[in-house]
Amino acid sequence: MSKPSLADAIAETLFSREQIDAKIAELSTTIEDDYRDKNPLVIGILSGCYPFMADLTRALDIQLEVDFMACSSYEGTTKSSGVVRILKDLNTSIENRHVLIVEDIIDTGLTLKYLVENLQTRHPASIEICTLLDKHEARSENVQVRYRGFVCPNKFVVGYGLDYDGHFRNLPYIGVLKPEVYSS
Ligand code: 5GP
Repeated sequence: MSKPSLADAIAETLFSREQIDAKIAELSTTIEDDYRDKNPLVIGILSGCYPFMADLTRALDIQLEVDFMACSSYEGTTKSSGVVRILKDLNTSIENRHVLIVEDIIDTGLTLKYLVENLQTRHPASIEICTLLDKHEARSENVQVRYRGFVCPNKFVVGYGLDYDGHFRNLPYIGVLKPEVYSS
């Protein structure tokens, strides 16, 4: 009998490991050109960023530093008012630093809008956003994304850092779950 596999829960692969690797190589060339000699502070937004942050920063052959933030956005009334709670703040001052935010996915844009506004008050030299996935059909906020991996269909996706109920972050590619996974 074959071993149960995470892949058994996946209905469709949206972005394969090979496609993700190729996209990271492409993004890193552009980011290296833009940030060489700027010693950027690359800020990963936990938890979903962790594989992308690790693979992207290792592909960047420039001097840089890393830090992390974690936040939670609220559903329902508070989410629609754009309230985001910072669960873990930076360890580093960003004053006069070139900041590059690394995110797994942008959906409505509420989280990043809040984070960028919050970080702007700390007087960085610049702030740009790099997201692996952009669900731009779902966007309600005006967020300027400088570096975009893939345009993502307006479906709930998992894998490569993205979870469903805490699971599937360790799936090495990005896919859509079988409907029965949600009902079980
Ligand atoms: P936003 O504030 O842009 O609406 O939401 C951003 C956050 O929502 C992401 O960082 C991620 O945690 C979550 N999110 C949005 N779409 C998806 C999705 O398709 N799959 C998963 N796993 N999380 C998502």
